[in-house]
Amino acid sequence: MLQDILPYKMDNHYYPDAVPKADSRIIVMKGEISDREILIKRTDGDRVSFPAFSEFASISKEKVIYLFKIADEEFFLSDGELSDAMIPKECEFCRISELRREKIEPKSNVFAVYTAFHLYEWYSTTRFCGKCGSPNANDSLERARVCTVCGNRIYPRINPAVIIGVTDKESNRIILTRYRSGFAQNALVAGFTEIGETLEETVRREVMEEVGLEVGNVRYYSSQPWGVASDILSGFFCDVAGNKEIRMDSSELKYAEWVSPEDIVLQIPDYSLTNEMMRLFKEHGYEGTL
Ligand SMILES: [Zn+2]
Repeated sequence: MLQDILPYKMDNHYYPDAVPKADSRIIVMKGEISDREILIKRTDGDRVSFPAFSEFASISKEKVIYLFKIADEEFFLSDGELSDAMIPKECEFCRISELRREKIEPKSNVFAVYTAFHLYEWYSTTRFCGKCGSPNANDSLERARVCTVCGNRIYPRINPAVIIGVTDKESNRIILTRYRSGFAQNALVAGFTEIGETLEETVRREVMEEVGLEVGNVRYYSSQPWGVASDILSGFFCDVAGNKEIRMDSSELKYAEWVSPEDIVLQIPDYSLTNEMMRLFKEHGYEGTL
């Protein structure tokens, strides 16, 4: 999955006093949320990296925010717009939606993009206090925004969502879906957790809403941080209970069918928890989900 970057490891501890070194990577993003672009360097075809702090002609240490570390490489976020003259040569802006469709090496840099995106979204939407409208400042000890007038604190926001493999033990099939808009490949039933709901209740509600089926034997599989949607995804398998006839929510989906293991077409590239769950079923069938 996206976050499986061994032998590297992401250190997401927040170091408020960190300042960029010459070789620290600088993440620069721009554009609207649905069409976000990131500044990258391409080397050797499919290898992607990010410009180093020393490559920027003029960017002050105060205008970057520490993000995280992967192996010994520190990542910082450029806070605010950069003029074209400040952009290092040999770099290009690339749409993140396009990066998602490519097979990029090293994989740890793909995970860096997703995670940096999540932090960028949070920083860019918390410039002002939601209570009194005054400017926020970065806290001096932890990753938080603090209102400079009323003291209101805002912590990073993570949206919980579930990915659901609905299985039928009897026929050894699983429900695959395709969304009506956006992502065009096969997926599983999925949805956000509502306030006041357990993850297991989300599973039952989303399956009923999207494909009109009752389910039982809900079993946790694995989880995945999915920064391009500010999500934490929890994967579950569950068994259809009773009627197996799909009643699809056509406002959200354009495809929902029971599929046998040999007929499962996997996603490319294979970063997602959804894809791992589909692969598990493709290779091991219902038995693999227990
Ligand atoms: Zn305030």
